[in-house]
Amino acid sequence: MTPEEFRAAAHDLVDWIADRRAAVEARPVRPDLEPGDLVSSMPTSPPPGGDAAASVLADLESVVAPAVTEVQHPMHFGWFPSNASLSSILGDFASSGLASLGISWESSPALTEVETVVLDWLRQLTGLSHEWSGVIQDTASTACLVALLSARERATDHSQAGSGLVGFGKQLHVYTTAEAHSSVRKSALLAGFAADDIRHIDVDPWTRDMKADHLADAMAADVAAGGVPAAVVASLGSTGATAFDPLPEIVTIAAEYEAWVHVDAAMAGSAMLLPEQRELFSGVEHADSLSWNPHKWMGTILDLSVLYLRDPDHLIRVMSTNPSYLRSTSGGEATQYRDWGIPLGRRFRSLKLWYQLRIDGPEAIRARLRRDLDNAQWFAAEIASRPGWEVVAPVRLQTVCVRHTPSHIDATNSAGVSEHNLGWVRSLNQSGDAFLSPSLLDDVWMARVSIGVEATERHHLERLLELMEEHAG
Ligand SMILES: *Cc1c(COP(=O)(O)O)cnc(C)c1O
Repeated sequence: MTPEEFRAAAHDLVDWIADRRAAVEARPVRPDLEPGDLVSSMPTSPPPGGDAAASVLADLESVVAPAVTEVQHPMHFGWFPSNASLSSILGDFASSGLASLGISWESSPALTEVETVVLDWLRQLTGLSHEWSGVIQDTASTACLVALLSARERATDHSQAGSGLVGFGKQLHVYTTAEAHSSVRKSALLAGFAADDIRHIDVDPWTRDMKADHLADAMAADVAAGGVPAAVVASLGSTGATAFDPLPEIVTIAAEYEAWVHVDAAMAGSAMLLPEQRELFSGVEHADSLSWNPHKWMGTILDLSVLYLRDPDHLIRVMSTNPSYLRSTSGGEATQYRDWGIPLGRRFRSLKLWYQLRIDGPEAIRARLRRDLDNAQWFAAEIASRPGWEVVAPVRLQTVCVRHTPSHIDATNSAGVSEHNLGWVRSLNQSGDAFLSPSLLDDVWMARVSIGVEATERHHLERLLELMEEHAG
């Protein structure tokens, strides 16, 4: 493809994308498909001679796009807001257009230095002190793995450089709660912690926040048994019920044992942009690492997860492909982000944030987050006032957990309540009119209404209430 051919095809594609975004509301939220439907409608081998760009775009429109779940739809309330601000999509285009190679500072000085600048902007916008240095990771899952590898190496005094965990010889423990995201357990296992050594600390039955005194007891018991508390993964804004583990207490307890504290604020971290919400994140200054996803509620298109560290030199020592290189960094030389995570090659992801922060601006982003918080409070109050409906977890931010118990089902009949709630959520989701995530809370099904898609306004929530009454009735 020549640059001139590219120009023509790219203009067509951009027009198509803009039209599609403008008309998102006219489409069903979820495609009516069975697994494998798309595979069977596509050719089994590529065209031998290549196709015209126009014919590829036609198939994008008729074959691929109808099989997308429309998470930008204002009636999408499933999982979490996976916002993709158009400004950040421009940054994604720019990143692809520059086609730069991120394997070292030398291979693209701009790729490295824009990342440094933009992550420092975000640090300031979220009220973190100068003690923190940030790096972009693909996802919060990877950020957690990187943090736990760092924790393991700190707890074992860099065992990987010598006799490894076997040589270290003691049980290494990770502490979290059963409310933590599934990626926390996965990361712990991948980082070499044994399943039996992962401790799920009890939570408060209503808020689902970790009980700090139980953490202290568990650590003391493990130490008495000859083990080493290596890390705590604290959830600030858990996936199910938006639990906030008590970080001020956790950092104090962990400090006694020099255990690493990683804060998983993947979803809720966007709220740190709001000074009035920072109370929820207190204690964060004493953690070792913090990750959150601008690619969720804040609206930087996937994938852009940030990892902030208080001691990046430790991470570099764990991840460095060239240990002698460490000496050159402390002399104020080039940052090599390959040593701040697992992959060698990286994309110019920071342009997505750069575009979004420059074009939308922080105040507009903040106003949108505040709108969503207001909407969540309004929605929760509506639910609480309706017969048969209840809000089953605290509404800390923008997620409202709801359950319906019709008059013909006894509230103590958990199986009946579960079946009913799973039933109405499924039928609502299948209608394509709205989408919610069914979720288990204390082994009984409920629905998570995750508010915060860029296009969702109050009248969409009014419509959702009508649809919920209809499908649950
Ligand atoms: C979404 C989420 C994750 C996982 O995020 P990825 O970036 O998809 O890996 C982890 N923890 C919490 C609390 C989340 O909300």
